[in-house]
Amino acid sequence: MGLSLIYNLFCNFNLSMRDYKLNDKGMKMKIEKIEVVHLKLPLNETFEISTGSITEKDCLIIKLHADDYIGIGESSPTPSPYYYSYETPYTCIHIMKDFIIPRLLKRDIKKIGDVDDIFDNMRGNNFAKVGLETALWDLFAKYSGKSLYEFIGGENKEIPWKMSIGIKPSIRELLDTIERFLDSGCRSIKIKIKRGWDIEPVREIRGKFGDIDLSVDANSFYVLEDIEIFRELDKYDLTQIEQPLHYEDLYDHHILQSKINTPICLDESIDSVTTCKNALDIGSCKIVNIKIQRVGGLKNAILIHDMCKKKEIPVWVGFIPESGVGDIIGLALCSLSNVLCPSDISPTGAYFKEDIIIPDITMGKSGNIKLPEGIGLGCSLDNDKVDKFKVSSFEFK
Ligand SMILES: [Mg+2]
Repeated sequence: MGLSLIYNLFCNFNLSMRDYKLNDKGMKMKIEKIEVVHLKLPLNETFEISTGSITEKDCLIIKLHADDYIGIGESSPTPSPYYYSYETPYTCIHIMKDFIIPRLLKRDIKKIGDVDDIFDNMRGNNFAKVGLETALWDLFAKYSGKSLYEFIGGENKEIPWKMSIGIKPSIRELLDTIERFLDSGCRSIKIKIKRGWDIEPVREIRGKFGDIDLSVDANSFYVLEDIEIFRELDKYDLTQIEQPLHYEDLYDHHILQSKINTPICLDESIDSVTTCKNALDIGSCKIVNIKIQRVGGLKNAILIHDMCKKKEIPVWVGFIPESGVGDIIGLALCSLSNVLCPSDISPTGAYFKEDIIIPDITMGKSGNIKLPEGIGLGCSLDNDKVDKFKVSSFEFK
C-alpha cells in the first residue's frame, strides 16, 4: 500500500469521525437549481501587495436550491494569473459551468462525502470548486437546523482578528493607517512587504506603536539569498513572517526556518492537504494560514486544521479578501479549536465600500468578532447590493 493511499485513508477516517451528514435517518437532498452571480465590489482604497494591486474585488456568489432551502457560497478569484492564483473569474465560471454543475445537479446527497468524486478527482481549480462546495456546507447546516460553525464542530464564538495592510506610498501613510485601525479596536496588524519596503517600515512601526502584535507577509517575493533581510527582521519580535519565498519551494522555506527564530507561516504554498503534510514533515513552517479558497473548500480546510492540530502547529484563517459571504464561511472555520492566531477577517467596511450581506459583521466589546447565531451562514444576501454590483449571472436547472 503506497504512502499516499495510507494518508488518504487517514484523511477519510478523520472526516467520517466528524460525521458530516444530513441526519441519522438516511435523509437525502437533491439540488434542483444553481445560480452563479459575478460581482465586482469596489475596495475602500487600492490594495497593493508584492505581486500587484487591485481597486475592486471579483466575487462569484453561488446559490444552491434544494427543497425550500438555498445554500450560499462564494468563489473569490483574483483578476489575473499574475496576482495570487492562476485562476480568474472567467476560468472559474468555465470550470463550474462545464464540469462541476452538470455533476452536482439532481444528484442524491446524504453526506458531504457523496460529492468527493466531483471535487477531489478534479485537479487544481480550487477557487472554482469553493463557491459550490461551501454553498453545499451551508445547505447541510440549514437542513440540520444548525449554524455553520456548530455544524462543523466549532467551539470558539469570539474570533480575534488582524488587519492586513497593503504596501503604502510612504511610511507616514502606513503609520496613519495603522493608527486608524488600532484606534478602531484592532489589536493585531499585518503589513505586506517587498524588497525596499521591509526593514524600515517594521522599524518605524515598532518605534511608534511599541510591542503590538505585528507580522509581515511577502507573498513569495524573496529568495533564500535574501536571508540577511530576514535575520534583520528577526530582531523585531514579529509574530510571524508569512510566505517569504516562492510558493512551490517548501525545501528553501525549511532551510530559512532553520536559520531564523521568527516563525514562518505558509500561505500560498499550502494549496492542498498533501502539500501541507509535506511542509510539516520537512519543517518548512511553524504556523499555517488556511485559506478556504486556496485549498478548494471547507472539507480540505478542516482536514488541514485537524492535521496541524495533531502536529501541534497553530493555524489561522486567511482571506483573499472575499465578500461578507466568504467572510462568514471563514469565520465558521475560525471557530475550530486549533485556530490559535488572529485571523485576517475584519468587521464589515474594513476593505469594501459596501458589502452584500445582512446583518454586518461586527466587533464586540472584547474587540473580537462575534459569530452569527442564525442557522447556516446566519446572514442573508442584500439583493439590492447584489444587483448594484452585478456583472453577469447564470442559472442552471
Ligand atoms: Mg498571505
